[in-house]
Amino acid sequence: MTLTQGNTIDFDSARLKLSENMTSVTVMPAENRQLSLTAVQDKLTRSLQTTLELDRVLELFFQELRAFMGLDCLEYRLEGRDLHQRIGQSSLHRCSYRMTHAGSFLGEIQFSRKKRFNETHLKTLETLLGNLLYPLRNALLYREAAYCAHNDSLTGVGNRLAMDRALDREVKLSIRNRSTLSLLVLDIDYFKQINDQYGHACGDEALKAVVNCVRNCLRGVDDVFRMGGEEFVVLLSDTAAREARMVAERIRSAIEEMQFQTDGVSIAITASIGVATRRLDEGNREVLDRCDKLMYSAKRGGRNRIAVQ
Ligand code: GH3
Ligand code: MG
Ligand code: MG
Repeated sequence: MTLTQGNTIDFDSARLKLSENMTSVTVMPAENRQLSLTAVQDKLTRSLQTTLELDRVLELFFQELRAFMGLDCLEYRLEGRDLHQRIGQSSLHRCSYRMTHAGSFLGEIQFSRKKRFNETHLKTLETLLGNLLYPLRNALLYREAAYCAHNDSLTGVGNRLAMDRALDREVKLSIRNRSTLSLLVLDIDYFKQINDQYGHACGDEALKAVVNCVRNCLRGVDDVFRMGGEEFVVLLSDTAAREARMVAERIRSAIEEMQFQTDGVSIAITASIGVATRRLDEGNREVLDRCDKLMYSAKRGGRNRIAVQ
């Protein structure tokens, strides 16, 4: 039989309540009775402030609790942010907490172990969760800040900074592995007209639709980035010129055939795409500039086409 004890812990009120209850706790429920609760709290305070990485915060927290309370597993979930981490092997007895602080939901954490949790164990866990509060909140804020720094807020794809880093990594990889790296620079044709004719909000939707369309044409390992405005870069790792050309043509035709509608009106969208495969003497800038120039030559050639050199 699996026992699941569900709890909600609002750190604002819980801390007060727990400090009243716990000051007199001297007998620990821990398997490791050498350590007192305050010693574990001190250790947690020290170790959790060493990192802002969510995975690491949870791992350090679990390590301390495992030693102290004989936990087998910690599972953390934050829906809506697509976060799920499990450390250890899930066990028979479980208890979980939905954590909130200052009106924000910080996620749900579940502990499991072979031995049942009694009231004292739960109070100990709740006290230790108090030590997790700020490191967890800071890690979540850091994650969000890092996401915003690297992703375009409209379409969700990587921004220019993310592209610079990814291109740098891919060029190094292609040199080390002697693999071929190709890239595409894609610019939507006459995009200004869409804004002028149907409004900026419709233009925004068109941008999202184009991004979805491009993504649907790519393998999982390929990545699309928004360079700004209506210009995108696609990195095709380990992809030779011939395949890159095929991918570009697939994207071009998928955008042309995309059924994009606003208020029941169908809007035709096309894009011009430059296709470049890194030459041995080319660094990041060189290959990107060459690809950008190819995109402009596709524009000059009449738009809704790809240009390869
Ligand atoms: P071309 O075929 O030569 O590329 O013409 P174009 O109209 O696509 O290019 P142009 O550079 O003249 O216009 C780009 C437009 O994209 C102008 C700008 O207002 C619009 N734009 C840039 N960023 C956004 C955005 O985030 N949302 C919307 N709706 N429009 C944007
Ligand atoms: Mg354009
Ligand atoms: Mg442009």
